[in-house]
Amino acid sequence: MIRTVYVNGDYVLETEATVSIFDRGFLFADAVYEVTAVLNGMLIDNPGHIARLERSCKELGIKMPLSAEQLTAVQKELIKKNNLQEGGVYLQLTRGNEGDRDFSYSDDIEPTLVLFTQQRALINSKPAQQGIKVLSMDDIRWRRRDIKTTSLLPACLSKHIAHQAGCDDVWLIEDGFVTEGGSSNAYIVTQENKIITRPLSNDILHGITRASLLKLAKDFDIEIEERSFTIEEAYAAKEAFVSSATTFIWPVISIDGNVIGDGIAGPLASKLRDIYVKTAIELAE
Ligand code: PMP
Repeated sequence: MIRTVYVNGDYVLETEATVSIFDRGFLFADAVYEVTAVLNGMLIDNPGHIARLERSCKELGIKMPLSAEQLTAVQKELIKKNNLQEGGVYLQLTRGNEGDRDFSYSDDIEPTLVLFTQQRALINSKPAQQGIKVLSMDDIRWRRRDIKTTSLLPACLSKHIAHQAGCDDVWLIEDGFVTEGGSSNAYIVTQENKIITRPLSNDILHGITRASLLKLAKDFDIEIEERSFTIEEAYAAKEAFVSSATTFIWPVISIDGNVIGDGIAGPLASKLRDIYVKTAIELAE
């Protein structure tokens, strides 16, 4: 199916959509992005994604061309135009294009805004039911991982290595501690049924799904401790899992070849996923 996409104020067919070769998003990865999940044709956790986009822009001095309400209206219009029931809406905002390649940029540069939909099974997906295998690797990313930029080459390379090794994803390690997944936040469950996840800092992306999970866990009396954990602690965990807008929760059943728990989707990860999906659908807009 040829999608209708959004480029700088226009809804156009994906085959007709163009962005300049001088766009700084293309030349320098000078751009930020967000992915919002869609279930039943509705946006999941979207206010959090728009708020994080505003923060990313503020941190980098990229102009927001539309208000939060206008952006949400574009997201909804694209869902409608493409008759999307399940998947996501990708939104990318670059600093813009000044007609040449130059490291420096002027303050009045106009941003480039692109959105498109992606159809994807989120509820009945194999990894959600059967879990994923991860490989750990050095975290070679820059120091501002809290900003959601499109500088994703380290993630692409490490995921590729993981796939070549027969794994589904990576867990990244810095100074002996797990930072996060290749495109997700990382969690382990201790033998005492306590969920552990790294606290927020510039070392990790402040996941919107993570924020919702922390709130839900509190509401449902599930204990979550925010602290760093080592990969050895993860090997010995009762369960492990990841969260993101494109996965919600996926259980992790093996890390570096070490089977986690019983090697199947853990009960706590599965319970939290069910709670998240149910609540997310109730709150969808
Ligand atoms: N960490 C990284 C590095 C990511 O790329 C993502 C997904 N974009 C996440 C965490 C999860 O964030 P969210 O729950 O907002 O999708």
